[in-house]
Amino acid sequence: MAGSTFQAAVLRETGAPLSIEPLTLAPLEPGDVLIRMHAAGLCHTDREAMTGAFAVPPPVVLGHEGAGVVEAVGSAVQRVKPGQHVVCTIYAACGQCYYCRRDQPMLCDMVVPNHRAATLSSGRKRLRDAAGAEVGHFLSVSSFAEYAVVPEAAAIPVPDDIPFDRACLLGCSVITGVGAALRVARVGLGDSVVVVGSGPVGLNVVQGARLAGAGVIIAVDRRADKLERAAAFGATHTMLGGEDLAAQVRAITGGRGADHAFEAAGVIGSLQDSVDCTRPGGSVTILGKTDPNRLVELRFGSISGERRILRSSLGGAKAADDFPAYAQAYLDGRLCLDELIDRRLPLGSINEAFEDVERGDVIRAVVVMHE
Ligand SMILES: [Zn+2]
Ligand SMILES: [Zn+2]
Repeated sequence: MAGSTFQAAVLRETGAPLSIEPLTLAPLEPGDVLIRMHAAGLCHTDREAMTGAFAVPPPVVLGHEGAGVVEAVGSAVQRVKPGQHVVCTIYAACGQCYYCRRDQPMLCDMVVPNHRAATLSSGRKRLRDAAGAEVGHFLSVSSFAEYAVVPEAAAIPVPDDIPFDRACLLGCSVITGVGAALRVARVGLGDSVVVVGSGPVGLNVVQGARLAGAGVIIAVDRRADKLERAAAFGATHTMLGGEDLAAQVRAITGGRGADHAFEAAGVIGSLQDSVDCTRPGGSVTILGKTDPNRLVELRFGSISGERRILRSSLGGAKAADDFPAYAQAYLDGRLCLDELIDRRLPLGSINEAFEDVERGDVIRAVVVMHE
């Protein structure tokens, strides 16, 4: 591979479309894994990098949901081999730092600075443009390209029989939503759950709650078409939202409110709604994002009553365990992935597909680079 060119979608400046251009690779370092990327999902976080809402230094190849086949490995790589099918994770944690030792790999001392600098674990970049200049790695993945170099811990083997376009979704939207239900809120058998927002993350919270055996799963959205989809993912009740949302939830949860609420809409109003829908002692898991400098208000009375307010950005992910387990759940017919994909497209159509993402018209659009 070294020396030959491949196509990639490069963010050259914020506010501008991605540039589809040929790149080359620097030689692999000992801990590197080279992946022939087959499929990559378009996530709202990529869009935020394009607009500047998520700060990352350009030029950088975007994309952080990716699945493909290992093409080559560096001299120190032990866990994966050429030919293996892998899904990328953005948290290639070191396993040894303060946060990793406390079982919080998302905060890993090694991962966070690399994400900010668009570098890989060694603090360097492997991608080069046509002029020979360095190009960065988005969240250690950069899946909007025909090839990607990732740290060994970011390449998670999955069964060969899960199709790449579905496998790539495990990397962000699926693990964020399903993990929020299973790992963060720890939804239990028979619990009642309300999910505010039925986009890519909300739908995956719904199916996570179903996998956990929740008794009541209430999906909320302003769009009726999204609620229809939520029912297919396992929602027992659907609601269009509105002022009486909390009262409607209490009416079907014995007058108490839900055991667990999830805010997956990313708008300020839905945060208060989510809190108001929980019972005393229940949990509220905040998954949506807004401007980090924006103040958010909550009625103090609504957060009293022993409620637990939790925040998660990737569902408490333990990718090495979760990706193969979720892939198997899909192959066994227990996890919906086909239904998340509205559109498949070639790399060259990526800018136009991001307009659909911006409008909320697609749950997932997936770039297919190699069949
Ligand atoms: Zn660490
Ligand atoms: Zn994402």
